[in-house]
Amino acid sequence: MGKTGLLLDQRYERHDTGPQHPESPRRLAAIRKAIEEVTVDPRIEAIEPQPILPAGLLRIHSRDYVTRVDAACRQGLPFIDVPDSAICPDSYEIALLAAGGTTQAIDAVMSGDLANAFCAVRPPGHHAERSQSMGFCLFNNVALAAERLLRYHELERVLVLDWDVHHGNGTQHSFEHLREVLFISLHGHPDVLYPGTGFENETGTGDGEGYTLNIPFMPGTTGDEYRRAFNEQILPAIDDYRPQFILISAGFDAHRLDPLAPLCLETSDYEWMTQTVIEAATRHCQGRLTSVLEGGYHLDALSESVTTHLALLAESAG
Ligand SMILES: [Zn+2]
Repeated sequence: MGKTGLLLDQRYERHDTGPQHPESPRRLAAIRKAIEEVTVDPRIEAIEPQPILPAGLLRIHSRDYVTRVDAACRQGLPFIDVPDSAICPDSYEIALLAAGGTTQAIDAVMSGDLANAFCAVRPPGHHAERSQSMGFCLFNNVALAAERLLRYHELERVLVLDWDVHHGNGTQHSFEHLREVLFISLHGHPDVLYPGTGFENETGTGDGEGYTLNIPFMPGTTGDEYRRAFNEQILPAIDDYRPQFILISAGFDAHRLDPLAPLCLETSDYEWMTQTVIEAATRHCQGRLTSVLEGGYHLDALSESVTTHLALLAESAG
């Protein structure tokens, strides 16, 4: 019997992106409200996040970048690097808390204290490059977790499955040269959707050739095509790789109702994908799975999808 860790701290709502920004604190408030109805579930255990030490960021980000984010927040600048990446004076500290909490989640899953975990963090991370913020992301929470699984936990095969509707450029670029991370991303086609990367022919470099799998989809794509991609490409790749840990970059913005992207998934498709990945984790790595929030901008679709996702994690843990 295990438990599902839930990282959902109100401090993540202190990353204030301004009244017009889609990546707003209201996202987490909506998730919190929806989840409060299920957290009486004894199989769910809250994770109390601590900030990551700034030095802990340096395996993924440059020292110059970390210093710049800190300084920009201290100076009260409205954004870092690109107007999309809005910040407030607290954003640096909250971003450290997002990366720190995610680290604690994977550590607890590795030690067996938790069976699996879901991290409802802000700011999101998968667009963050080594030395540049992009697309609402400051520090790459999932890349930092994957790197820690390799270096600190000494794993040799980590799967990062990124089902956010936008390509996880920062994560891909962190690991595309390594075979120790298999990066699989499903996303809107780079010809039509931000950030314009994630073509099928981006398959890794050097030793990492063949360990990056990009599956782009055109506008209007429904869950049927996602399920086919899982059955024909993703699950065979996972079963061949035999991951020792699975990280999900869990954006919910491929949902039909999402205002930022033209794909047409339903909440039931996220439910199916969640169950499918749980089963893969059970087959390969004793269920070791940690899911980290990325995008998702329709508040009802987001909170419904997250609640379903979390309930399945808890069911598999218990
Ligand atoms: Zn996204």
